[in-house]
Amino acid sequence: MGASGILGDGKKAVKVHHLVKAPENTPQSISRRESWDATKPATVYKTPEMLQDGTPCTAATVILRTKGCVWWWKSGCTFCGYFNDVRDDVSADDLFAQWEEAKRQTDDFKGCKMIKVYTSGTFFEDRENPPEWQEMVLKETHERGLELIVEAQAHLCSPEKLSWVAERHPGCTVAIGLEAYDDTVLRFHCNKGFSTKTWRKSVSDLRDAGLRVKTYLLFKPPFMSEGDALNLTCEWLKEVAPLSDEVSINPMNIQKNTVVDRIFRNREYRPPWLWSLVEMIERTHDEIVNSNCRTIVHPTAGGRIRGAHNCKKCDAEVVAAIERYSVSRDLREFKGLDCDCKNVWRTEISNDFSLPVPLGQGRDRRLSRVDMVRAP
Ligand code: SF4
Ligand SMILES: [Zn+2]
Repeated sequence: MGASGILGDGKKAVKVHHLVKAPENTPQSISRRESWDATKPATVYKTPEMLQDGTPCTAATVILRTKGCVWWWKSGCTFCGYFNDVRDDVSADDLFAQWEEAKRQTDDFKGCKMIKVYTSGTFFEDRENPPEWQEMVLKETHERGLELIVEAQAHLCSPEKLSWVAERHPGCTVAIGLEAYDDTVLRFHCNKGFSTKTWRKSVSDLRDAGLRVKTYLLFKPPFMSEGDALNLTCEWLKEVAPLSDEVSINPMNIQKNTVVDRIFRNREYRPPWLWSLVEMIERTHDEIVNSNCRTIVHPTAGGRIRGAHNCKKCDAEVVAAIERYSVSRDLREFKGLDCDCKNVWRTEISNDFSLPVPLGQGRDRRLSRVDMVRAP
């Protein structure tokens, strides 16, 4: 079974054998996953971005097919669908080939000043990615003067590895999916695998190594009401922004075969309202706008049923305003935005705080009333 492949060298493989993470490790899922060409990256695209000093630029995002996150093979976060892009037999040669292919597809990163290298896990974890490949990417991007962003889990940011990274690409950005600045939420909602204490330690180690800190927060993890998501994320943002160079707040978008996908299909979860994101921005703006930390809210799949959405009618307009705000930092982007559904949203939030229904009680939870009150 796939689970042993990642730890291929023997020892630990015994412990995790036959861990079947239904349904994503069914023979059908595996054969679909493995039908992909391991020498081609999963996705490559260019987007407008901002350099560290605030200058607008073009960035290339390269999402590679890797062995994937060690944590996912052991357990995995409740919302993470990255396994859809991983193969446990990806070799070093494949990764070098994927990198060449990414350059081919972008005309050798033409016009790009920034590269985001996403490996569905921790870029500098040697069990996930061969060190010689890590080294090549770090050095090549540095020699070419390209700003680099890689991702990591907090507990894998050891001072030794970080100084190894910093020697090869000084000042690059390490993005950590913190998701929530709350240990209970990390443990029971996200199954994140590390604590806020570990995250704080990794931030100070990143600083010591002269690397930049980017933090992802997840807006509305599973098993949380809309009202709680709104209040908690505002608090988390105010707490993590002073410790980060950049915070990206990612509204939940539901990826196939994850835990959150299951509760979504069971009508026990609704992705966040776009109104909640607007409210969060308005509540935190004054405190955040003058700090040195950049904040970005990008509703992936915004307006779709699996992404942050309102009533359908007003979705495009509200998503556009949120995107404009990320660039302009101007609250006037939201002036005059309105829709009938705003009242529905407002009622849901106030009910979440006045009625003791677990998991919230938005009307998208169409279970029987009795079951709803009993829900876990
Ligand atoms: S979210 Fe990150 S840490 Fe969690 S399972 Fe996915 S890749 Fe691993
Ligand atoms: Zn609406």
